[in-house]
Amino acid sequence: MKPHPLPKTVAPLPDELLSGWFSRLAAANYCDDAELLAHIKIDTAHGTALDFSVDAATAEKIANAARVDPDVVRSLTFPAMTPREASLTAQMPFQHCLQCSREGLSLRHWRRAWAFDCQVCGTRLVQTLGKPGDEQISEKLIYRARRGAGMLECAARSRSPKQLRRAMRAVAFAMSLKTFRGDPSFAVQNPRSEVRLFCLAAIAAARSRPLAKAAIVSHSIDDYARVALLRAFEKEPRLLAAVDHIAQRRARSAGPMTAASRN
Ligand SMILES: [Zn+2]
Repeated sequence: MKPHPLPKTVAPLPDELLSGWFSRLAAANYCDDAELLAHIKIDTAHGTALDFSVDAATAEKIANAARVDPDVVRSLTFPAMTPREASLTAQMPFQHCLQCSREGLSLRHWRRAWAFDCQVCGTRLVQTLGKPGDEQISEKLIYRARRGAGMLECAARSRSPKQLRRAMRAVAFAMSLKTFRGDPSFAVQNPRSEVRLFCLAAIAAARSRPLAKAAIVSHSIDDYARVALLRAFEKEPRLLAAVDHIAQRRARSAGPMTAASRN
């Protein structure tokens, strides 16, 4: 038996994600996402699972409950993406706009690794695992990270893979300095702002001056960081040697005090 349409419906907003609209629909009908999913007999634990693909039967069930066309439901999912775009589009929310979130919005562009400011209200997006101290992030870092994010978008959308390789190499390098482990494409989608902003800023730094100079921000370097460096620059031994040289000189001049404080 088909469940009855819901008593209340809400109109989707531009760029709204299916999971976000679904939450608003649930709230308008005084229930939560899980209750609404169960009510319309959709077998998934989270609405976010529907953001990337929604089959015809599921779209039909949601459309019937919300009294909209199934095409409207489908239009709220991500369109087909190139592998490059897909690698830089988060499966789960990692950042949001505080202002728009308060109104219950969840927008598609927030999931892109290169999204930096909310396209609806202009507020800077913040990481979902942000700490209260995050407001103290320096303006300079934010400025650089915003530029890096713009470059990342160009690289992701460009036809040539060269730009993105270059951007990701800068990210891999930044990760090695922060001894942050994992895949560079995940680092720029990190829910912690200290990782994401530093990595985005590195993309801008790599563009404006030789990457070797980025080693100046390095305090010292451990074994993992050395391996990451080798990997990031494996095809450019001369650049690696230059970076390595600067990093080692920095480590020496920083002295034993710095080395001790790291442990
Ligand atoms: Zn906003």
